[in-house]
Amino acid sequence: MNSLELKTTRLMSRPHCPRCSTLLDAATDTNLQDPRTPKPEDLTICIKCGLLLVFTADMSLRRATIEEIAYLQLQHSKLWQMAEVIARRYTSRVN
Ligand SMILES: [Zn+2]
Repeated sequence: MNSLELKTTRLMSRPHCPRCSTLLDAATDTNLQDPRTPKPEDLTICIKCGLLLVFTADMSLRRATIEEIAYLQLQHSKLWQMAEVIARRYTSRVN
């Protein structure tokens, strides 16, 4: 795989966001060095509302816990930054 390609995986579990109900049937790994398919306990975000989510054992999605969100904030991760931008945009549209 070219190192600049993003890896997108189609999710057969066809999960929905628990906040905005958007169908989230694909996930893209932003790690360009070592892209992989998502697995249970991986963190992700809703592309529509920015809610931080976690893949469950059956590859549906649940809201991230306070501890998981705090961990991401402490790491200043790319995922946290993306979630903040998307959530701000979503909040300005629905309010
Ligand atoms: Zn959402």
